[in-house]
Parts: sequence; structure tokens; C-alpha cells
Amino acid sequence: MAIQLFVPTFDVEACLGEIRECLEKGWTGAGFKTIAFEEAWKSYSDLPHAHFLNSATSGLHLALDIYKEQHGWSDGDEVITTPITFVSTNHAILHANLKPVFADVDAHLCLDPDDVERKITPHTRAVVFVGLGGNTGQLSRIAEICTRHKLVLVLDAAHMAGTKLNGETPRGDVTVYSFQAVKNLPTADAGMICFADEDFDALARRKSWLGINKDTYARAADASAYKWQYEVESVGYKYHGNSIMAAIGLAQLPHLDAHNARRREIAALYDKGFAGRAEIATVPTAAGCFSSRHLYQILIDDREKLIADLNARGINTGVHYRNNLDYPMFADQHAACPKAARQSQHVLSLPLHPQLSDGDVSRVVEAVCTCVETRLERAL
Ligand SMILES: *Cc1c(COP(=O)(O)O)cnc(C)c1O
Repeated sequence: MAIQLFVPTFDVEACLGEIRECLEKGWTGAGFKTIAFEEAWKSYSDLPHAHFLNSATSGLHLALDIYKEQHGWSDGDEVITTPITFVSTNHAILHANLKPVFADVDAHLCLDPDDVERKITPHTRAVVFVGLGGNTGQLSRIAEICTRHKLVLVLDAAHMAGTKLNGETPRGDVTVYSFQAVKNLPTADAGMICFADEDFDALARRKSWLGINKDTYARAADASAYKWQYEVESVGYKYHGNSIMAAIGLAQLPHLDAHNARRREIAALYDKGFAGRAEIATVPTAAGCFSSRHLYQILIDDREKLIADLNARGINTGVHYRNNLDYPMFADQHAACPKAARQSQHVLSLPLHPQLSDGDVSRVVEAVCTCVETRLERAL
């Protein structure tokens, strides 16, 4: 049987029970379960605000859009970001008509604070930090730089559901989670935007529903004859989440910590399996980081050959991520991040999800070691 890279694990009965409530009530849209899930997420994460969205991609765009409008940023103002991320992160910056300025990554494959500081100009407004694979990298130093230079810190926490840093939920001025099917808390597609600031949270609620100042759910509860008389205060987007996705989120949240604990166990088995093998480098977890372990990444020579060899043995792998500077839209900064360019050629994600058995993990470890050894022998 093939070993998959990612497999979502659903509590099917609990999901169906939550979804059934929506169908019986006749309410599948925003409100009802979305409110319940926002409350559940706030109490789980200890973040002060949370607004449920249809994706993290929407959330990252909404975050930058709101800061740009509220802080009076201009088109073309700069946002420092990483080239080692999913395309959503940097698309969000472009969608807001801001300019992505790429800083290099460190050994965690997260933004390198020294390079971030070098890339700051009078036009810099924000930094987007991606907690790659659930790792917090040097987030605390980045936060300190943002405070010192009065920059907004956007935390792309798509991989970080359940990550703690020194016992607390890591956060930026705004923190955006993904509950897409392969992320740590799987639904089908959903996200959460968590502003530190209450007014921005209120704005996000309006803007995610086309700028309308009163949501349909609140209007449905309004006994007056004037339910239709809502105000449209600004141009918005249709980014809000729905009750079916929130229902799945509510059913899955009680499993998040146990799933992440299993992910950490698997990561520890991989670490043990690869210990002492100079030809297999691993990505270190930052000090103080209790990682959600969205990814287990190794760095290896001749990665393409290893991908093919593992594939032939029924083991699926992934690359997180291709250097974004290879994409045509960032051609102007093609050579800006030499470390990211190099790491992205060697990095490989191994299967990691809660359904893997210890035996599966051993099979992957042995396959990786054998493929690498065979190659070394041939090279001698
Ligand atoms: C998955 C992902 C996103 C986008 O999440 P969606 O909910 O699918 O929109 C953003 N950033 C990173 C780093 C991701 O991995």
C-alpha cells in the first residue's frame, strides 16, 4: 500500500452530527455554527478575536486590505515576505496592490531577522511571517524588529494550528489560520482571521460580507419590519465562512491536540531514524517551539532522484516550497534570496499525518536511508 504524504483524519460521526444540526435548522450560511466555532477557537487559542472565513488565502488578503485602508498605506508600499511559502501568502500582497519585498530564510526555512532588517526601507509597512511546518523560527526577533520600526506583523499561521511558543499561542498583529483539508485541523476549505485589535476584528466581519453592516443571521433574529434596511459602509468581499465548514471545524477541534501529539511522535521517530546520517539533514524546530508539526522536512542532495526512488517504492513526498522567486511575477527579485534558492532545491517533505503507524514510519526511514546509501555506493 502506498504511503501518502498527507491524509486528513475526520471524526466522521461527530462531523455528520454537527452538519445534521445545520440541515435540520435550515441554516448553512454565516452565523450559527460559524459563531460557535469562532468562540471555540478563541477559547482554544486564547486569542482575543477570531472571525471565520472561507480560506486563509482570503484572510491574508483581508488583513492587508484592512491595514492598508486604516493606516493610509499607498499602492506600491512594501511588505517584507518569504520566498518559501505557498503562493497564497504573496498573492495576498499583490492583491492588495502592495509590493512584496523578499527576505531570505534561516535554517528553520522561516524569515531570517537579519535579512528582514536589511530589507526595510522608508516604504516598508509590514512583515508577513510564515511559521513553516508549524515552526516558530525566529518569530520573537521578527516581532521585536516590527515593534522597533513600527511595522505591522502579519502571521501566516496556516501550518500553526496548535503550535505554542513558550507555552502561548504565537501571534502577530493579525494571525491567519487555514483549515483546508490537508492542514492540521481539516475541514474542506476554511480559515480564521484573528486580529489583536477589536476594531479591526469588527471591520473584518463587515468586509468579509461585502461591506454590509449587519449580518444575515443577526437580521433573521431582528423582529422589526426593517430587516432589509442594512447599510453598506464600504466595498467588501465575499470571504466569510459557512456553517457546514464551521460544523466540521467544531467536530475536529477536540482532536487537534491529539493529532498534533501523534505528529510530534512521528517526527521524533524520523529524527531517531536519521540521527548520525550526515547525508540526511533535517530542519530544526526552534527553541521554545511546541510545534504543530504540519511538516517533516529533510534536506538532501539529488532530491529529484530520491523523489523518484521513493515514489517507485510507494512513498509519496512533497516539496514545501518551490522558491517563489522562480515565478515570473517575482522575476525582478529573482536572485534576492540565495539561501532560499539553495534550500528549496534540496528540501523534501516526508509523509506526516496522524494515521501513519510506527511501521509506516520505519518503512519510510528505511527507504530513504537505502536510496541514499545506494546512491553513495554508486558515486564511489
Ligand atoms: C495552505 C496555505 C495557505 C492558504 O490556505 P487556504 O486556507 O488554502 O487558503 C496560506 N499560507 C500557507 C503557508 C499555506 O500552507
